[in-house]
Amino acid sequence: MKYPSLKNYIEGKFVENGNDTLEILSPLDGSIISLVPLSNYDAVDKAVSAAKKIFPAWSNTPIKERAQIFYRYKYLLEKNIDELSELVQEENGKTFSESRAEVEKSIEVTEFACSIPQIAAGEILEVSKGVECRIDRHPLGVVASITPFNFPNMVPNWTIPNALVLGNTMILKPSEQVPLSANRIAELLKEAGLPDGVFNVVHGAKEVVEAICDHPGIDAITFVGSTKIAKTVYVRGTSKLKRVLALGGAKNHLIVLPDANVGMTASNVAASMTGCAGQRCMAASAMVAVGPVDHIIVQLVEEAKKIIPGKNLGAVISRQAKERIENYITEAEKDGAKVLLDGRNCKVNGKENGFYVGPTILDYVRPEMKIAKEEVFGPVLAILRTENVDEAIKIQNGSHYGNAASVFTQSGGVARYIMENASAGMIGVNIGVPVPREPFSFGGWNESKFGVGDITGKSSIEFFTKLKKTTIKWNPESRINWMS
Ligand code: NAD
Repeated sequence: MKYPSLKNYIEGKFVENGNDTLEILSPLDGSIISLVPLSNYDAVDKAVSAAKKIFPAWSNTPIKERAQIFYRYKYLLEKNIDELSELVQEENGKTFSESRAEVEKSIEVTEFACSIPQIAAGEILEVSKGVECRIDRHPLGVVASITPFNFPNMVPNWTIPNALVLGNTMILKPSEQVPLSANRIAELLKEAGLPDGVFNVVHGAKEVVEAICDHPGIDAITFVGSTKIAKTVYVRGTSKLKRVLALGGAKNHLIVLPDANVGMTASNVAASMTGCAGQRCMAASAMVAVGPVDHIIVQLVEEAKKIIPGKNLGAVISRQAKERIENYITEAEKDGAKVLLDGRNCKVNGKENGFYVGPTILDYVRPEMKIAKEEVFGPVLAILRTENVDEAIKIQNGSHYGNAASVFTQSGGVARYIMENASAGMIGVNIGVPVPREPFSFGGWNESKFGVGDITGKSSIEFFTKLKKTTIKWNPESRINWMS
């Protein structure tokens, strides 16, 4: 094993858990790289006690001082970017440049968190002579962040800097499939000067998530993962009267018109469907081809052929994921889809035990087919043919997901029509992966997100704080009126 067995991180120390463990396999070559503890309610309880104990001191630290710690944390992310990226690559299987891009996004969200003292300043207004009203933001208390396997560094960092700068304390429950980055984040936060107990990591799976939903000491939960578990966490957490924001899965449609720029569209769609081996909630999963777009599809296949497993295409997370993805392709072929590019049975020389799937493009997929409706989460694109834009919108609107949708066209009118009518939280015009940059917030619609607000950017400030409204009269001579 390359790394020693992992421990939970509670009150500034790595502590033994004493429970069962799970092997962590590197998707790159199938080797066991470490063991992760499968913790229980007791571990969550200890983390909550630590987070509650430090909460009064941390929340009373001026916000500008809290932000200073995150300036240092941002510097440490930058200083250690290569090492952090290697860790992401090893545990998740994506390429080094994709891993580096994810840490760069962590740096960007941390930069945003450093600006929160300016953005989240309260409001004040003289509402009648000598009487003023003011609004101040207060942290919620102990928040828990539950994260998925596909971005081991970035998704935890979607919530850590913002929630903590705003004065909350936190328990992170990373995916048990990629738990190594979380412990390294804990070390860097400590090095940046974060007081012990403000940030804690409890490793594990279902039992820890259920403990987080049930524990009376936890005030709010953010969850990022599949829709099935997002629903469970949302229902269980809110039934215990917690504030919950749960981001789920996706099925993103790219609507391509015949007038689209051929080179740009082909390379953007190919990059969107294969980036992070298709394991992104923003990945292109279905391309809706409107009218005669064969010239673009031919070019798209050429672009996708340049994406080589083990070189510029990473591995998928597990053997089971590889099998699941390949089964989707086989079933779609049986149902009548035409395989333009086949990534099944892919082997990488020297990495024969790695979990690789090559880029796959399926044409003539029909809306009722499973591959058109479900999240595949692999480097697979289903092409659906339509006659006109309204049919394309109908297909997009028919999905129960609603994370992202994009249109490729040179017509402003068509782009505008799709911007207005697509049922998704994040829209792209000639963009394959329309992730908003800070300070714009990240979050989908429909069954891609449960709860109010978004998880990053300005919208996250609302989620991680509650408002106190104070009405003040210092001057006894102030006129008495109906609202005095
Ligand atoms: P997942 O739902 O399997 O796991 C997410 C978290 O839930 C993990 O921490 C896991 O330990 C926990 N979990 C798993 N099964 C559980 C259960 N039965 N009960 C309680 N907790 C459980 O998701 P994943 O496979 O790690 O990640 C991939 C999914 O995440 C995809 O659906 C992807 O679209 C989604 N995702 C969404 C976004 C977004 O912003 N909407 C971002 C990244 C990933």
